[in-house]
Amino acid sequence: MSRRARPGQRARGPDGAQLLRAARLFLAGIGETELARDLRGTPARVAQAWRGEIVSGYRADPLRILSKTIPAREHDMVVVRDIPFISVCVHHLLPFHGTAHVAYLPGDRLVGLSKITRAVDALSRRLQLQERLTRQVVDALGTALHPLGAACRIEAEHLCMSIRGARVKGSRVVTSAYAGVFGTSPALRAEFLRLTGAPARRPGSAVAGVIKYRT
Ligand SMILES: [Zn+2]
Repeated sequence: MSRRARPGQRARGPDGAQLLRAARLFLAGIGETELARDLRGTPARVAQAWRGEIVSGYRADPLRILSKTIPAREHDMVVVRDIPFISVCVHHLLPFHGTAHVAYLPGDRLVGLSKITRAVDALSRRLQLQERLTRQVVDALGTALHPLGAACRIEAEHLCMSIRGARVKGSRVVTSAYAGVFGTSPALRAEFLRLTGAPARRPGSAVAGVIKYRT
């Protein structure tokens, strides 16, 4: 059965009892025996941390968070930059963390800036792909506010890249998603990138990844 909530309905979120069983099984698979005393409470702590914090975003509805809007009198670009977030990569269940920069060009409605931060939090505290998270932020703004355009750029370091695989420490993945006028106006995109401090491309720069434009 799908656990996904209908729009506007609050999801029940992850199943604590199943997470507890899974944590026990996972630890049994690791097979650590010398630390038995320390491990006694670990499954419960793991289940609580995942349910209560790490993937708590499944219990939140970003559209509901963004639903309290006010009429817009100005139509200048609204930018919220440097929103810190921590998410979990769906492929390895390891964290990726960084900052999100979000902008929109208002149509008829404005939303409180803290609501944008909370929406990013709700979408990031789930199993995620960085590209998908970036797109979901833009889509949520589009659905909730019907702005003239929306943009999101995320820079993140992925633990799955630094502790396994390529073992590249300190490299960041950059993803961008655009909708509406941000998709059609290179000048607006450039202004967004300037306001959110996108570093100029330098040879040997630690910034890695792809900037995707959707037009
Ligand atoms: Zn990964």
